[in-house]
Amino acid sequence: MQFYSTKHISPNVDLEEAVMKSQPSDKGLYMPEVITPLPASFFEGIKDLTFAEMAFEVAHCLLEDSIDKEALKKIVWDALQFDAPLQSVHDDIACLELFHGPTLAFKDFGAQFMARLMGHFVKESQEKQYVLVATSGDTGGAVARGFFQVPNIEVIILYPSGKVSDLQEKQLTTLGHNISALEVNGTFDDCQALVKTAFNDEELNQKMRLASANSISLARLIPQMFYYFRAYQQLKDKSKPMIVCVPSGNFGNITAGLIAKRMGLPIAKFIAATNANKVFPEYLKTENYHPISPSIATYSNAMDVGNPSNFQRIIDLYDGDIESIRQDISAYSYTDAETLETLKEVYNEYGYVMCPHTAIAYRGLMEYLRTNGLEKQVNGIFLATAHPSKFIDIVEETIGTSVEIPADLAALKDKEKVAGWLEVDFETFKEYLVGRFI
Ligand SMILES: *Cc1c(COP(=O)(O)O)cnc(C)c1O
Repeated sequence: MQFYSTKHISPNVDLEEAVMKSQPSDKGLYMPEVITPLPASFFEGIKDLTFAEMAFEVAHCLLEDSIDKEALKKIVWDALQFDAPLQSVHDDIACLELFHGPTLAFKDFGAQFMARLMGHFVKESQEKQYVLVATSGDTGGAVARGFFQVPNIEVIILYPSGKVSDLQEKQLTTLGHNISALEVNGTFDDCQALVKTAFNDEELNQKMRLASANSISLARLIPQMFYYFRAYQQLKDKSKPMIVCVPSGNFGNITAGLIAKRMGLPIAKFIAATNANKVFPEYLKTENYHPISPSIATYSNAMDVGNPSNFQRIIDLYDGDIESIRQDISAYSYTDAETLETLKEVYNEYGYVMCPHTAIAYRGLMEYLRTNGLEKQVNGIFLATAHPSKFIDIVEETIGTSVEIPADLAALKDKEKVAGWLEVDFETFKEYLVGRFI
């Protein structure tokens, strides 16, 4: 099985190159050459499979011979040490909770799998691998935990000083071992620019094997398919159509769902719900794609994306045919005021507490069902992408009561932060890397 670039300029590559390189040089995104549907027997026997067994079947069907079967099985097993429970909220509306991983965000699925997949390829090559990540908060934590103690991989995380929450900072700076954090005296864009310059620096690349762990990596996309199957598996009445609303920023989460559908998972409709960064809903409405730059800051800040990177993959999946995209996806956007209104309403009416991203997903689902007269006739599912305590200030203020912080997260408060200090200067960054690791 080979992987092609959505821009069709760079040559096809094998899985190892797609994973270690993350993005083709033509700046497209990697996609599998074929998406093979799962056999009917898979769906017939799905109720008897564990989450990891089911995920392995899905990954193996997609990746075929690109990776050793037993190695893949172990990677999936090790990565899926937490569940994605389907929590009923009211009537036939349920929340697929994706925040039971180590950093309480759905990005744990991607990071845990990617780290082990990279670890597998590094083990085969016996060469030390350096993973550079710039983070505005959440991604860095998930990536740090994913790669923690993976042999032969060193992770260097750059984050903007004073611009991530205290708990987010602790998630990045308290692990130690193969995880190093650099506090940058600048913005997230400065961090990203330093990392990009490093990837393009010939001298540095001769000394160190560098890889990126960013969200466009195929290795992060694949495991995000698994929980759509897990949602289906947990449905009590599979005869009713399944409709899924995904709170979207870079559209990686929903793209994984669309691939799951191509593999035969019966999802009748996807709803993409965004905040004020409504590039995709506007595209479906007007057929014009207008990135928003700079992106608009909102309470659902993990979705503050003005130019969704996975848009290319969606266009590629549908050969650019907007009518077929509209058949599979509807899209809505909501303001901060609407987000908080929904957060409060769902708490008051059903006692269910959500993070702002999840509130947007709930609202998108309900609007779609109401507009199409489908209430109580379908299995309505919205995805919860983060635990409400990760956005504790705004959630508590909105619902007027305190939110419990899970013990693991709370314990971070007392751990000691260890981070290097970095001015926004590439030569200093390079000296740090060479001085510390070479
Ligand atoms: C990253 C993230 C999103 C957006 O996911 P995409 O795959 O980028 O669309 C939504 N919610 C939370 C909490 C996130 O961390």
